[in-house]
Amino acid sequence: MTPTGLESLIEALRCLPGIGPKSAQRMAYHLMQRDRKGAKRLGEAVLHALDAVKHCLRCNTFSETEICERCASPKRDQSVLCVVETPVDMNMMEQTLAYQGLYYVLMGRISPLDGVGPRELGLEQLMARVMDGLVQEVILATNYTNEGEATAHYITAMLKPKGIGVTRIARGVPVGGELEYVDSGTLAQALRERKACAA
Ligand code: ZN
Repeated sequence: MTPTGLESLIEALRCLPGIGPKSAQRMAYHLMQRDRKGAKRLGEAVLHALDAVKHCLRCNTFSETEICERCASPKRDQSVLCVVETPVDMNMMEQTLAYQGLYYVLMGRISPLDGVGPRELGLEQLMARVMDGLVQEVILATNYTNEGEATAHYITAMLKPKGIGVTRIARGVPVGGELEYVDSGTLAQALRERKACAA
């Protein structure tokens, strides 16, 4: 039996993080019963975004142009590259106002349990970015979680032999903490107190 429109909608909503069957059902009922206009807007916005949003060829963050505005800015320091896990983390670093360099957004982390290794994470692309001849220091600002640490270790081992300076933001960030939930003062301190990484 083919699923009804409502069933397909409920199933589709479950692709959102943290949404189980009950929440999906509640959201679907709400959209169909109380907010059909909102539902239409949502559907159109998803389709439009899918079409328009790409990844910046230099920093890998979401962008609607080939090179994002930040990467294209002549005001940013081209010699420092800060590696973060997500665009949210990049925004957090920006909010510290303590950083003027460029970024590389991994869009994830090494996580063997989820089947994400260096290849799935696309670390060759990071490598290519770092070897542009301008980057002198890579600041690793991955989370202080097991996966974030593993990712930092892997990138350090990958870049050190290439003669690139690699630093890690200091532990002003709590252990097990995610950048997204750290206040900008703490993050600014962590950035200032970054240390060289042992290979
Ligand atoms: Zn960019």
